[in-house]
Amino acid sequence: MSDNTNKPLYGALEAGGTKMICAVGTADGKILDRVSFPTETPAETVPKMTAYFSDKGISAIGIGCFGPIDLIPGSETYGFITTTPKTAWKNYNIVKAFKDALGVPVGFDTDVNAAILGEAGFGAAKGLKNAVYATIGTGVGIGVLSEGRLLHGVLHPEGGHILIARREGDTAKSACPFHENCLEGLAAGPSIEKRWGKKGFELADRPEVWDLEAYYIAQALVNYTLLLAPERIVLGGGVMAQEQLFPLIREKYKELLNGYLSVKEIEDLDSYIVPSSLGGSQAVLGCFLLAKDAL
Ligand code: ADP
Ligand code: ZN
Repeated sequence: MSDNTNKPLYGALEAGGTKMICAVGTADGKILDRVSFPTETPAETVPKMTAYFSDKGISAIGIGCFGPIDLIPGSETYGFITTTPKTAWKNYNIVKAFKDALGVPVGFDTDVNAAILGEAGFGAAKGLKNAVYATIGTGVGIGVLSEGRLLHGVLHPEGGHILIARREGDTAKSACPFHENCLEGLAAGPSIEKRWGKKGFELADRPEVWDLEAYYIAQALVNYTLLLAPERIVLGGGVMAQEQLFPLIREKYKELLNGYLSVKEIEDLDSYIVPSSLGGSQAVLGCFLLAKDAL
């Protein structure tokens, strides 16, 4: 495979709990080919993926992976998917599997860190050095770019599980098995379904659903601003397909912040809290950048 410009080709794997998106492209954001495989067990799915990449002439591959994962260089379990509820993938060394099969450098980070890298390279956060990507989907996760680098630490940010205040009268059981009052437990897709008895897309015409949803998301975003000082917050994931959420989130964000910060970026909320861009390819494009970095 070639893009006719002699630029190095990179592989991208956006590893998700339901599907594995594999793509080949360049670090300037061109996707030349893309396929997807259902996420079964590693024994079933990994050979399909490595076979796909094996004849593409890639110089390196970037993996943006569902978590939690170990991405601390030097750690004994670096490259492992660690405590995931997807039992077949628990304690699986996905980096080694690709390194052994393809013999190329492997870049490795979370799916949401890959997404913010893609958005900052080519999309809604283009050119920014400090930005947050939050996905509100089956779970909630955040990717953080801080001073131009993806934020890690002892693990990686787990901003989906930050604790938030319930609205009075909301007694629905949390969908998070660990926390009664975390964002994921109160606002991810499954918690919407649990609270209202229907899937999110079937509730489009119920304003009370999105009002509560926006209240919870806005609390989280205020906390992200206060702690991480991003220049922009990008929101993606299945639940955010409800575009009516954006003005509601901005309104509640403003109320909750209550004038505390006078920063021009934050005062222009229409361009501070924005939908993801790139047609869902932000993580794949970020993976090309992870691959380039690994090379
Ligand atoms: P994942 O998080 O598994 O990668 P998604 O980001 O697509 O996948 O999120 C899936 C979740 O989003 C599900 O809980 C689903 O009910 C919810 N969802 C998908 N589409 C919509 C929609 N149009 N409106 C509201 N919720 C949606
Ligand atoms: Zn939680």
